[in-house]
Amino acid sequence: MQDFDQAHEDYKVAGVTGRYVHPSQVDGFLATCPKNVHIVELGKSLEGRTIQMAELGSGKVKILMWSQMHGNESTTTKAVLDAISFLSSQNPIAKELLKKCQLRIIVMLNPDGAVRYTRENANGVDLNRDALDQTQPESKILRKAYQAFSPNFSFNLHDQRTIYNVGESEHPATLSFLAPSMDSERTINKSREVSMQLIAAINEALQKVIPGNVGRYDDAFNANCIGDSLQMLGAPTLLFEAGHFPGDYEREIVRKHVFHSLLVAITAISNKSYLAYNLQSYFNIPENNKRYFDILIRNYRSGGNKGRLEDMGILFREDLVDGQIQFVPYLQERGKLNAHYGHQTYDFNNEKDREYLRNSSLSSILDF
Ligand SMILES: [Zn+2]
Repeated sequence: MQDFDQAHEDYKVAGVTGRYVHPSQVDGFLATCPKNVHIVELGKSLEGRTIQMAELGSGKVKILMWSQMHGNESTTTKAVLDAISFLSSQNPIAKELLKKCQLRIIVMLNPDGAVRYTRENANGVDLNRDALDQTQPESKILRKAYQAFSPNFSFNLHDQRTIYNVGESEHPATLSFLAPSMDSERTINKSREVSMQLIAAINEALQKVIPGNVGRYDDAFNANCIGDSLQMLGAPTLLFEAGHFPGDYEREIVRKHVFHSLLVAITAISNKSYLAYNLQSYFNIPENNKRYFDILIRNYRSGGNKGRLEDMGILFREDLVDGQIQFVPYLQERGKLNAHYGHQTYDFNNEKDREYLRNSSLSSILDF
């Protein structure tokens, strides 16, 4: 596998950063793409925003991907913009990949949710629970794009919360993957097997750059989830989840790893190297657990040090304020949190930590 870090450095779309990505930024980028990127208007969101698809490449193998089905999940959108920027360039690796593959990329499936920074669309519907019912225009647009293309591979691109760790370890799940089930028996048919092989190939490449930080999602079947629903139609489908890397709340580091994963996947598809991976290497990726808090305070005592000894698990709510995401702490859980980890950890027995907490914005949710 090539190292795509330099490619990301050279081709990333520098004007789109942070957690809040507005549809106008996507439209602006697509409008300036070179002519080897064909832009197609697929239809309108509920509030009339245009949903666009970028088409690249002339190869035999067809790959469809869509990002930001959940409006507050922008990391993979940034990575997809970077991937389009790279693939449409004169870079010889990019040219080679486009000879082998044909890509269709729906950059932002839920622009109304993106504007509001909500998971749901403008009707308050989670599009990832609308795959069967198809009640929303965005769900119909995706299904139509899928049927018109009949892809050999589908990539379903999401963000996951900061709460996930890998297996029993203290490693945050910086990226997670799933080869979704096609039925409640979790049968592994040929197409699901191929999804697993491809994930194993991506994982191998990621382990070299973020060892231990890759997790696997639980494969409980839900026909109304888009991945499961498409896996039922027979094309290998992969779920990508961009997660947390230490300190990277803007998800600019994770963006690079998603870019890397996409390029590794496209390369493995184009040279069929994924066929060399067995299913065990997929199952060897540890499952995710929800062990993380954004902030964990150990040995806390309320009321002037007289209260019960307990740990405080704090999470950040992501609030959209003036076009920026603010991370607002709230108390999620208190008690014995021995099995948990914190992206930041403070010990109330430590005077320096206590002093820090007293002067920080956290003092409003603590009572000491
Ligand atoms: Zn999602």
